[in-house]
Amino acid sequence: MRFPKKRESNSLPLSDPQNNGVVPLQYHNSTTSLKKSQSIDSELRDKWTPKRILCERLVSVYRFLGLDKRAERVDNCGTSLEFVKVAAAAGGSPLGNESSSSSNDIFKLHSANFCRDRLCPMCSWRRSYKIFGQVSKIMNLIQNDYEFLFLTLTVPNVSGEELPDKLDSLQTGWRNFTRNKRFKFSVCGYFKALEITYNKKMDTFHPHYHVVIAVNKSYFKGFKYIQRNDWLYMWQCAMNDFSITQVDIRKARNKKTERIGADCSAYLASCVAEIAKYAVKSSDYLFDDIGLSRYVVSVLFRALSDRRLISFGGCFKKAFQALNLDDSENGDLIHLDGELRSDVALQIYRYGWSCGAYKLIEISHKADILADFDE
Ligand SMILES: [Zn+2]
Repeated sequence: MRFPKKRESNSLPLSDPQNNGVVPLQYHNSTTSLKKSQSIDSELRDKWTPKRILCERLVSVYRFLGLDKRAERVDNCGTSLEFVKVAAAAGGSPLGNESSSSSNDIFKLHSANFCRDRLCPMCSWRRSYKIFGQVSKIMNLIQNDYEFLFLTLTVPNVSGEELPDKLDSLQTGWRNFTRNKRFKFSVCGYFKALEITYNKKMDTFHPHYHVVIAVNKSYFKGFKYIQRNDWLYMWQCAMNDFSITQVDIRKARNKKTERIGADCSAYLASCVAEIAKYAVKSSDYLFDDIGLSRYVVSVLFRALSDRRLISFGGCFKKAFQALNLDDSENGDLIHLDGELRSDVALQIYRYGWSCGAYKLIEISHKADILADFDE
């Protein structure tokens, strides 16, 4: 498993030392030294703009592949954004709804025209935040009853042509895996996500599952404990493929991470963030080489079509329902941490995409907003 050694520039959240949960929900590095307008502007420039530029690259690839309707949808994705300025004390966690600004205010995304395309860099980024938030909330809810393991299940790399069949067999393999007696005996719940990476040098695809597993607190001392070699054997049997030589299994909290205290939360958050990355990273299919981009996008487009990429089981599924979370893949990509209370909204900042940058179009004040509702 490629657990993160260093933080990527567009990586998901890390720690919030004030948060007592096993995985910190709050991720945003506060830009308290900046004025409000500077803060939101830098947020748009540094985080949103690169995604919009990648969208344009995907549009040209879709057009070449004759997927004109998709191209049109992605072309419009995230071109209009509205942020609501709210008082930080009332607003709570700004999960996925950057950004915080001066001493008291944060900006929450209020409205956007997302295209929801599977390969859209903008929508994948939003989905990753959403999935990260949901998995973190679940882990925080059930942490008193369970310990967590991070498991990565791999298969040998395949060509683009073989990828759809390999994804089918992975799905069957996972089903067999969860029906294994030892799995059923030891595992209380899981979150599973498919990730596919592309090896440019070898021209091969590497599909694999990232899984967070919940086990009882007594797991490590009792007979429910499963050794790494047994996990590997169970996966080989499930896939009916004994050429598989790797599984990665690690405890979410161990002596090392507990010794470093607050950093333990950061470590956990970075592991969950790695897992929550949505299926494929745009850096794995949008290259400077347009020919290669066209080839890899066409392979992934075909392979991922009509395929569910993440799933929750057991206690994770129950917690998902108890928290009343919406569909991780197809649900709301705007309000990632719940609805905004209308009584805390102060102003709406509307931005539009034009000539390669986001530009402020309008600021509506609360009185104007209420007047619109009255009409
Ligand atoms: Zn999109």
